[in-house]
Amino acid sequence: MERILIIRYGEISLKGLNRPYFENTLLKNIKTAVKHIGDMNIYKAHGRIYIELGDHDDEEIIEVVINVFGIVSVSVAYIFEADMDKICEIALEHAKECLEKDDIKTFKVEAKRANKKFPVKSPEISRMVGGYILKNTDDLVVDVHNPDVTINIEVRDKAYVYSRKIPGFGGMPYKTSGKAMLLLSGGIDSPVAGWLVAKRGVEIEAIHYHSYPFTSDRAKEKVLELARILSRYCGRIRVHSVNLLNIQKAINENCRLEEMTILSRRFMMKIAERVAMDRKCKALITGESIGQVASQTIESLNVTNASVNIPVFRPLIAMDKMDIIKISKTIDTYETSILPFEDCCTVFLPDRPVTKPRLDKILKSEELLDVEGLINDAINEMEAIIIKSED
Ligand code: ATP
Ligand code: MG
Repeated sequence: MERILIIRYGEISLKGLNRPYFENTLLKNIKTAVKHIGDMNIYKAHGRIYIELGDHDDEEIIEVVINVFGIVSVSVAYIFEADMDKICEIALEHAKECLEKDDIKTFKVEAKRANKKFPVKSPEISRMVGGYILKNTDDLVVDVHNPDVTINIEVRDKAYVYSRKIPGFGGMPYKTSGKAMLLLSGGIDSPVAGWLVAKRGVEIEAIHYHSYPFTSDRAKEKVLELARILSRYCGRIRVHSVNLLNIQKAINENCRLEEMTILSRRFMMKIAERVAMDRKCKALITGESIGQVASQTIESLNVTNASVNIPVFRPLIAMDKMDIIKISKTIDTYETSILPFEDCCTVFLPDRPVTKPRLDKILKSEELLDVEGLINDAINEMEAIIIKSED
């Protein structure tokens, strides 16, 4: 029996004149996501996208498709000539399949007749199929309000029978909302921040700061692994890797240690802004959240913000750590984020960082440094790595 993957996307988020553009981008993103699995026919119809599954493994395809942003849900359906006897027969077979897999006691049939030329109306289809299943199974009973399983029948050009609806992440098709630069550390927060913005259709590039050789190759590997996990959702990601050590040394030699965190944070932002401009990114993204650490008080965030002119997106700003961790587990970055390799920030960590920095004082401290020169040197030695999920 032929199977097809039905892919649903939100009608609310895809509205107006942009709709064809969003739909075509979504179609393209789905095609790109499954390309490594093999050839398959993928097309748009009835306000949905379909993948003819052929001999392919359903689960393998679902696993990658479900990560494509903009998808609300998917279902594997049997597809065949629309004929009432056949519909009853396939629906029964499918109900038995569901019985074998799960502990199912109740069911209902929901029919939708989109093809008005089909002689049997929707309620009648539901009634006939429901009756047929009841007659040919032993322990199933109908529950129209809260069934264990809903057998869906759709009659269009062909007939479709399915039950399971697997939820997607929603959001907007990737690359339909411009590009932004994610400040990606090895922590829990920044991968989540990047994922949330990417889910809104924003293409992301990443920039990471390390203090090699004070920080290890494994710390760098960890960040690249986080980028690799993000690339399951975003396709390929460019990661810019910047050595911050000379800047940290300069701060250490010329400024007060308690200003180390806020000063290096401003350098990170300025370098990210430069690279963002160069790469046509129109915003920065960070994983900051109010009050989480000393550098994330409102005063610190203000002083950090004042270092750049580009918008800074902080999608986690009002989220609790528990909620951030929940998302990081869902998107699969958590286990990598908690690996114990330090990124650059821990190398020159002050015992007591300033929690309420004043911009005028911080600007005075920066006057002691060759800010331009330090930034230029760091950018000149920067390396770019392209990360793909199948690598
Ligand atoms: P995270 O879990 O994302 O590391 P955090 O709670 O540890 O965040 P901070 O260390 O204060 O908080 O960092 C705040 C934000 O600054 C991070 O979310 C990230 O966007 C950026 N950042 C911090 N360190 C780095 C780094 N080494 N490279 C790139 N960005 C960084
Ligand atoms: Mg961190």
